[in-house]
Amino acid sequence: DDSEGEAEEYLFKVVIIGDSAVGKSNLLSRYARNEFNLHSKATIGVEFQTQSMDIDGKEVKAQIWDTAGQRGAFGALLVYDISRRSTFDNVGRWLQELNTHSDTTVAKMLVGNKCDLDNIREVPVEEGKALAEAEGLFFMETSALDATNVKTAFEIVIKEIYSNVS
Ligand code: GDP
Ligand code: MG
Repeated sequence: DDSEGEAEEYLFKVVIIGDSAVGKSNLLSRYARNEFNLHSKATIGVEFQTQSMDIDGKEVKAQIWDTAGQRGAFGALLVYDISRRSTFDNVGRWLQELNTHSDTTVAKMLVGNKCDLDNIREVPVEEGKALAEAEGLFFMETSALDATNVKTAFEIVIKEIYSNVS
């Protein structure tokens, strides 16, 4: 923020994409505000949050878009729900859409969300890992509910973007 006399050094757009109800909005609210909503409504319109992190003494800001258009994104979280196989089966489609809309190198992470629902899991961790490896994506299982790996997932993507451009 310039009013604080500190120059803004980096601002990157990150998008969160994936099927409906996989937990995209809750991943964002968990990361940006440490909030979770059990009864969140479907996202209407566009929403984003800005988060800063320090990398090598530089202030790096990420503008993280929930369900928005993918144009201009430097990073993406492709989210599925480990308790719903169909959401994993659709990852390929989301990836294709992302690739057709991006002209630059995009840091991508495959995110298996709702890992707290291990008792009703339909997608084994190994399958997530294997797909990520085959497609050249980072991979992480997360839970927006209990906060497992949420911060780490976003920060890995933001660090990768930074290293791509610096
Ligand atoms: P979106 O449509 O992808 O934005 O999904 P939402 O964030 O709106 O979440 C859809 C539903 O899944 C809501 O009822 C959330 O409370 C629930 N949900 C989101 N993340 C998790 C999670 O990590 N674990 C569990 N158990 N439920 C979650
Ligand atoms: Mg949503």
